Amino acid sequence: MDTGSVLSTIAAEVQPLVGQGAVASYIPPLAAIDPARFGLAVRATDGAEHAVGDATERFSIQSIAKVLSLAVAMDLEGDTLWARVGREPSGTAFNSLVQLEADGGVPRNPMINAGALVVMDAVLAHTGPDATPVLDLVRAATDDATLTVDGAVAEAEIATAHRTRALAHYLKAFGTLRGDPDTVVEAYCRLCALSMSCVELCRAFTFLATGGHAPSGQQVISTRQAKRLNAIMLTCGVYDEAGDFAYRVGLPAKSGVGGGIVAVMPGEFVAATWSPGLGPRGNSVAGTMALELLTTYTGRSVF
Ligand code: GLN
Repeated sequence: MDTGSVLSTIAAEVQPLVGQGAVASYIPPLAAIDPARFGLAVRATDGAEHAVGDATERFSIQSIAKVLSLAVAMDLEGDTLWARVGREPSGTAFNSLVQLEADGGVPRNPMINAGALVVMDAVLAHTGPDATPVLDLVRAATDDATLTVDGAVAEAEIATAHRTRALAHYLKAFGTLRGDPDTVVEAYCRLCALSMSCVELCRAFTFLATGGHAPSGQQVISTRQAKRLNAIMLTCGVYDEAGDFAYRVGLPAKSGVGGGIVAVMPGEFVAATWSPGLGPRGNSVAGTMALELLTTYTGRSVF
């Protein structure tokens, strides 16, 4: 079957799952999203793109952005970053305070919220109070200068980020954060509010399938960092569902509570899916199934 037919087959097969689960309701702009949306896009490393459903509609990428800020922090900070954040799967919720306490103030990995705050702190230490370099990376990786944060989502995130603020202040109390915790939280919330479509996400994450090269050919990160980011996504990218996701899908991936998931087959393709209904671990129900079917029908996975 050609890729276009595979995507059409998957879209039809996941239809009964679209709308299942719960749409993120912690801020009004996300709670208002129609749960019946579903999109899937695949971009091969040779540039061939295929898409089905709502794959060109922009949505809130939320925690998918944590991979992009980590890429920038690894570049700016080098290995010293790992003194302040670990690289092990969490096994607890992405916003757990208990885990941060248990881990002595050093977040388990950069994909959970506490870890992403440390990553953002590292970025800001090099750039000043906003995270423009992360946006620059996204724009360079996608070759699209129009990509930006959704102001309404960002404001709502900042207004309601009580748990994230608690994590940031707790990190500060442990001495793990260097900068001002509230500045870090605001930059983190703005990053979570990036709006992108499945097709745009495939382009933005192409560098993880090509050893660091954007679709334009520009090397945006080193081959070694691309390998490391894929490893972190595989083990930590879908939080406490990492084991089940690896079993079912078999690809490094990163999810967000907006219902998006990006998955990478190094050397071959990037896939991105969007459907807002989330399972109990905060990962898209229909999106996870779409990716499971993609690796099943194409016979391609890292395993
Ligand atoms: N903005 C969300 C939060 O910080 C992002 C979480 C997610 O996408 N998993 O809670």
